[in-house]
Amino acid sequence: MVSPEEALRLILKNIRSLRSETVPLAESEGRVVAQAISAQEDLPPFDSSAMDGFAVRIRDCAQTSRRTSISLKVGETLRAGALAAVELRPGQAVKIMTGAPVPKGADAVVMKEFTSVNGDGRVNILRAPRRGQHIRRHGEDVRRGELIFKKGTLIRPYEIALLAAQGIEKILVIARPRAALLATGDELVEVSQPLAPGKIRNSNGPALAAALSRWGTVPLYQGIVPDDPVPMKAALRRSLESCDMLLVSGGVSVGDFDYTKTLLEELGLNVVFWKVAIKPGKPLLFGLYRNKPVFGLPGNPISAMVCVEELVRPAIEKMQGRSPRYPSYHLQGSLENGYPKDADRQQYVFCRASDGPQGFRLRVIRPQGSAMLGMAVQANALAVAPIGVSHLKKGMKVSFRWLK
Ligand code: AMP
Ligand code: MG
Repeated sequence: MVSPEEALRLILKNIRSLRSETVPLAESEGRVVAQAISAQEDLPPFDSSAMDGFAVRIRDCAQTSRRTSISLKVGETLRAGALAAVELRPGQAVKIMTGAPVPKGADAVVMKEFTSVNGDGRVNILRAPRRGQHIRRHGEDVRRGELIFKKGTLIRPYEIALLAAQGIEKILVIARPRAALLATGDELVEVSQPLAPGKIRNSNGPALAAALSRWGTVPLYQGIVPDDPVPMKAALRRSLESCDMLLVSGGVSVGDFDYTKTLLEELGLNVVFWKVAIKPGKPLLFGLYRNKPVFGLPGNPISAMVCVEELVRPAIEKMQGRSPRYPSYHLQGSLENGYPKDADRQQYVFCRASDGPQGFRLRVIRPQGSAMLGMAVQANALAVAPIGVSHLKKGMKVSFRWLK
């Protein structure tokens, strides 16, 4: 058994980021920039007003003080999108809207709130403006040719805004990992099929596919195979060929009909580790098939989910060109009730967290089990108790994260 820290280290050490591909702007959110991007244009592209108000010449307003306002003749109105054809003459002001080009000759904008109009075609300036006030200068934000994104930048809505403003419609990003997903087990039937005696539904298929697409991979569902080496090996071979990473659910433990590890090894898998000191999730298998990461997940649905959240997700992020930073248990809470704990393993505990005057309180959902789906949906938080701790006692402080 490897420790969870060692497991994560081995996973990240063995995974490289994927090839790159070009995507349209609208599909680039959540992707990672594969090649540095420089600005194509200056931003803002022209001097524009940052306020609704009046464009003025500073000189004309020099006499404005706390007690005296000065009055300027109002010229034509400049709206956003207008041409900056107007030139401001001495003694004049131009009514200007936010985003409109600043007229030639103007060197400040006075906010509408600090002016008053008399209806005689003149405006009173109530506060002396500073030079450049409320003018967004051409190129003050971004200069053409300047590096805007380094290779490895994650594209969030902020990055999308800058790319859009620059007119960049196609971006070279790291490819989405195609993750093949195979469920094994004689007892499994698909969600749409009727249950027969001894059978259960394949809940891991839809659950893992959902997790995989949430994290920006393309799930390739390969169906269910029985615990029979012949069809199983064929399905594993087929799955391995079509993907960037493979997740196999079930058959990875020590049962008489658990073939996942043996068959993958026969196909050429290099096992990096098998079994991690975590609960749930102990039988997790990780290896490489021609540099493709392969995970053998325990069939128990809660174990499988914990494994994908804790260890498969960082692998996906690394493939996507991101720099995964785990663990993510940055919150602390005190337990409202106790729970048995296996001292030899790091244990993930499903809890209901609530906010109280003394910080977060965590109520352990009891009982817990690696196959208990109804239990898991009651939880909004996952607490973690380290190796060495042998019992979770009421009042104990533990780290947790939200189950979002
Ligand atoms: P295994 O890892 O194959 O030993 O399976 C452990 C437990 O998980 C057994 O009770 C299986 O019935 C159950 N199980 C295996 N695969 C799935 C699946 N795809 N969906 C739901 N439960 C499963
Ligand atoms: Mg099984």
